[in-house]
Amino acid sequence: MTYNRTGKSGVLLPALSLGLWHNFGFVDSIQNGRDILRTAFDLGITHFDLANNYGPPYGSAEENFGTIFKKDFKPYRDELFIATKAGYDMWPGPYGNWGSRKYLISSLDQSLKRMNLDYVDVFYHHRPDPETPLEETMGALADIVRQGKALYVGISNYKPKETAEAAKLLKALNTPFILHQARYSMFDRWVEDGLLDTLKDTGVGCIAFSPLAQGMLTDKYLKGIPDGSRAAKNLTYLQSETVNENIEKVKALNTIAESRNQKLSQMALAWILRQPQVASVLIGASSSNQLKENVKALDNLEFSKEELEAIHQILK
Ligand code: NDP
Repeated sequence: MTYNRTGKSGVLLPALSLGLWHNFGFVDSIQNGRDILRTAFDLGITHFDLANNYGPPYGSAEENFGTIFKKDFKPYRDELFIATKAGYDMWPGPYGNWGSRKYLISSLDQSLKRMNLDYVDVFYHHRPDPETPLEETMGALADIVRQGKALYVGISNYKPKETAEAAKLLKALNTPFILHQARYSMFDRWVEDGLLDTLKDTGVGCIAFSPLAQGMLTDKYLKGIPDGSRAAKNLTYLQSETVNENIEKVKALNTIAESRNQKLSQMALAWILRQPQVASVLIGASSSNQLKENVKALDNLEFSKEELEAIHQILK
């Protein structure tokens, strides 16, 4: 594994980190989840990313993680960098969503219990809240660090201007703000339009989520939509229509990957890691074999000018 510094902090993150959004809920096989987590750790993936509402049902990915943590990972707590978040709907009523101090502090207390942890390494505000003053949300993050419940803080899905404001507030509060978690893949390049520059200016690292566009940027859908895949499950997050709309681009990208002797998934991950501000790429996996394949992306991270231009033309 390669480890990259996140922003101007002391923290090194694995170039590939593992997210537990899908495949770790009560609806999934905990044995498979355990196999994925153990494989990840053996591959040097020291960073696991969760959120209060991952499952389904909400909370169940954290609870399953807590069960596996107790069995397998407790002696290795100090070798792990564990994240959770709050910001989306979690429990009924006015205190289980968005960005109030009330929600963030109660949510993290719940998460720690579910995960069998005393603290998380990084706690994120999951999305900006247009109604709550940013001072309140950032103040809650600062107090969470002071209480020892998180070592560092992060934000996710914030636009460049909101990110700069959050950074200013957190700096004034002496709070270690080290990560911005943003969607970034060949199919979604919004971070290139200002966010990466803002993060560079503020000394904060980027961790890129859904780097494979939820599986579209792999060879999985080249011959149709296989049973059991995320698109076949007809979740609102990845619809079969989206896969069909993009398949010609996927095929063209796959040809470039073949010419580099790489799988498309490996090329898609390497393509993100070419950005110096990206400390880590946050992947999902439904099997340990997918993880093993994806980690081989690190064997070839170089792109020629011609390759980058050819990829750009396909994505245009
Ligand atoms: P990816 O884009 O990496 O998609 C993962 C999916 O791609 C897998 O579940 C699998 O799908 C498929 N896949 C992975 N590797 C391969 C392979 N080698 N061959 C074929 N198919 C493959 O990321 P996710 O969308 O899962 O997001 C990753 C993490 O990012 C999440 O777990 C979460 O931690 C974080 N995240 C954060 C958000 C935020 O708002 N902050 C929002 C979304 C995600 P299949 O199940 O079909 O096999």
